[in-house]
Amino acid sequence: MSTPIIQLQNVSKSFGKKEVLHNINFAVEKGEIFGLLGPSGSGKTTLVKCMIGMEQTTKGKIELLNTVIPNLNITLKIGFMAQSDALYQDLTAYENVDFFATLYGLKGKHKKERIKYVLSLVNLLEDQRKRVSDYSGGMKRRLSLAISLLHEPEVLILDEPTVGIDPILRQSIWNELGILRKNGTTIVVTTHVMDEAEKCNRLGMIREGQMIAIGTPSELKERIQVNTIEEAFLTYGGAK
Ligand code: ADP
Ligand code: MG
Repeated sequence: MSTPIIQLQNVSKSFGKKEVLHNINFAVEKGEIFGLLGPSGSGKTTLVKCMIGMEQTTKGKIELLNTVIPNLNITLKIGFMAQSDALYQDLTAYENVDFFATLYGLKGKHKKERIKYVLSLVNLLEDQRKRVSDYSGGMKRRLSLAISLLHEPEVLILDEPTVGIDPILRQSIWNELGILRKNGTTIVVTTHVMDEAEKCNRLGMIREGQMIAIGTPSELKERIQVNTIEEAFLTYGGAK
């Protein structure tokens, strides 16, 4: 097997005395969509923040693209969509995307084309001249997703990307993730939605900061002979 794109070894994270991640181990291969499934408060956001170097781990080691994290040099190779949108409310959607495109070093015709492409992907071309303060929650999510895709990152890390997005657009976003994956992008996506978990190539189930099971959705179900990811989650969690 090739070297994994992302590798976590014995990762723990505490805030003060409280340990919120306990000895997490997993690897993500090139071109995988790896889902982190867990309820609110289970540690998903903390884990992805550690993976991109926004939070420092207390113990263990994280490598991304053969680089030990944190490391500023690989920031441009990662696309990150945070759980809460980091957008400039007073600017229009277009101005927001343009700002980040410039930050990512895109220029001229290529920049214009990328902006148009990512905005069309999330179906925001018609609303691109509106101010973000006039956007709905779902539109802000879509705009954040567009921004994370601007610089064609090798690794895409999405923290609950489809919260507040209607089912039709949610479907089209998952289709797009599938296309990105086929083109070689490695994707980590957190979710607490069971049907989204089914769309991942592999899943890591997280409960109370512990990885309770890892595998493909069908492996996870077959191993314990249940029919749904939800049942699987409850069984692995209960057998802890
Ligand atoms: P999730 O994204 O799965 O909802 P989080 O990673 O946000 O979970 O949170 C996991 C746990 O860590 C929660 O108990 C949360 O209160 C705690 N936590 C997260 N960030 C901080 C912080 N900056 N300081 C203290 N505790 C935190
Ligand atoms: Mg979270």
